[in-house]
Amino acid sequence: MSLLCAHCNKPHGRRAAYVNRAAKCGLPLYCDRRCAGLARRTEKPPLAVRRALKREYDIKYRLENREYIRERKREDYQAHRDPVKERRIRKANMARHVAYCRKYYQDPKRKAFKVAYDKYYKAKLLYGDNYWAECHVLLVKLEKAVRELEPNKYERAKARGYYGNGRTTQERKRNAKISRW
Ligand SMILES: [Zn+2]
Repeated sequence: MSLLCAHCNKPHGRRAAYVNRAAKCGLPLYCDRRCAGLARRTEKPPLAVRRALKREYDIKYRLENREYIRERKREDYQAHRDPVKERRIRKANMARHVAYCRKYYQDPKRKAFKVAYDKYYKAKLLYGDNYWAECHVLLVKLEKAVRELEPNKYERAKARGYYGNGRTTQERKRNAKISRW
């Protein structure tokens, strides 16, 4: 039987049995082995496209496996670190670092930012990265505002009804007398 190659469109001959089987299974027929191979080949996208795809994949992978990657990095660092070398580098950098810190904190804008940052950093250490940390920061702020409004501790305690509530024996006796009348 004469038919056309599914890859190069060249006419070629095949036995009827081959053609019938291919039609039954829905398979293409090629003129020779070379065409069959070429037809199976999948064209790779250009290098730039492949790099872009890999980049996208890496970003997704790092986001999804952040903890796993960090754990592995931590283990790798602990396995290969050299404390002596680290100490030497730290010492060599110390003077420069101290000068940098001094300069950094001379800028009032930067200092305010750092103070605010540290506040949240400490709150997050205590309460984790959730809204309780935010609550803690707000509470501290509120308490500071209250203390500024009334610096006297005795006055503050009086205002919230600390005294006269049966805290001392004298108060309890007085309260008992009042309730009897
Ligand atoms: Zn062919």
